[in-house]
Amino acid sequence: MTAPSPLSPDLDRRLTAILLRCEQLDAQSEREHAELACVSRQFAAGPEGVLYFDANSIGPMPASAPARMQSVLEQGWRVARRRSWNESDWLEQPRSLGARLSRVLGADPDGVVVCDTTSINHYKLLRFALAVTGRRVIVVERSVFPTNRYVAEGIARAGLAELRNIESIDDLPAALTPGDVAVVSLSQVDYRSSARLDLSKLSPRITAHGALGLWDLSHSAGAVDVALQRSGVDLAVGCGYKYLCGGPGAPSFIYVHPRLRDAAWPALCGWMGHADTFAFDAHYAPAAGVGRFQVGTPAVLANAAMAAAADLWAEVDPAQLEARHRSLSQTLIELIEDTGLFAHLSLSSPSDPARRGGHVALRFEGAQPLANALVSAGVVVSARKPDALRIAPHPLVTRHVDLARLVRVLCSLIADGSWRQPQFAKATV
Ligand SMILES: *Cc1c(COP(=O)(O)O)cnc(C)c1O
Repeated sequence: MTAPSPLSPDLDRRLTAILLRCEQLDAQSEREHAELACVSRQFAAGPEGVLYFDANSIGPMPASAPARMQSVLEQGWRVARRRSWNESDWLEQPRSLGARLSRVLGADPDGVVVCDTTSINHYKLLRFALAVTGRRVIVVERSVFPTNRYVAEGIARAGLAELRNIESIDDLPAALTPGDVAVVSLSQVDYRSSARLDLSKLSPRITAHGALGLWDLSHSAGAVDVALQRSGVDLAVGCGYKYLCGGPGAPSFIYVHPRLRDAAWPALCGWMGHADTFAFDAHYAPAAGVGRFQVGTPAVLANAAMAAAADLWAEVDPAQLEARHRSLSQTLIELIEDTGLFAHLSLSSPSDPARRGGHVALRFEGAQPLANALVSAGVVVSARKPDALRIAPHPLVTRHVDLARLVRVLCSLIADGSWRQPQFAKATV
């Protein structure tokens, strides 16, 4: 079985029909999700002729971000300087950004704080879980995103915890059975396959053993409906610069379940997490709620860019986001099917959209050179070792017609074999 040549009139006709079908899907989506379409128009266009499917790496830019950053530089820094701490919202931003993200995360407005990086926040919440439960065992998946494992290993090396490795989620019940687990550290979405775990099923199972669940939402927040509070999630962190569109190096977020917010001191006690920062008390007292997870001075410039995104997220209904994600990722898989490409590559993501996270992963032996060839043809995708080609539409920005164009380029690269050329052999980030 081989796909017909892209130059064959038959495939060409099929690709043209696909483009028309995708135009109709876009029009339908505009009508059905008017609220979402309005938010979509508030993103800046990318460079002419480039199709971007790498939202899992860095999300698109809200159109207002440059002006907002410029205003912080000009009005905040050059003109007002020190006065800005009082006159602007610089100190409130970690909480106010959290409040604006809370809708898309399915949290209450007081449940989220935006600060530091995902790795640092992961550290804070692992240590918090150890303190809250008074137990020592951290359960961690062997193949989890590396930084999550490194953070846990560092805590264990310092003598503060023991690690219990699981190979996959199927081993979780056995790992919990001894009843000594403080925290189970999981990614909701696998960064390679995009397999999405069901928060509402797993959270109560973890809690039933007296343990806490700590979820990394880097590949789900802003891509699908995560419904934190409804799912009974204990603790979560996630990345600000991927689907959430906070800009390069954007701060991360922390979510803590209401019943846990005041349950222990944070592991990193800093003045910004103090109950009364500017009283300059001689001793530490934690702020009430998630505010205690702040440590030092907010990253004001990064927060200005993040605020542009947070304002947009406040307008997004998570159910519509989920529907849009489903439509885009399902359509992509159907187009690959319709063009015969499954003769050459296979789907490594789950076929059920409810079990898929932000991206669609395809298995292809030459994933890295194929990704490089796609990028050089103006179709930005990524690859992960050993054989995963990752295609990540952004539900707020990607259109169905973009998928039709992607599939046309994919068809022609595979048919003429040009992805095998030596200049595409090098690994990229
Ligand atoms: C991207 C990503 C991170 C990023 O961590 P930083 O500390 O912000 O660099 C963390 N976890 C996962 C699962 C990710 O995909």
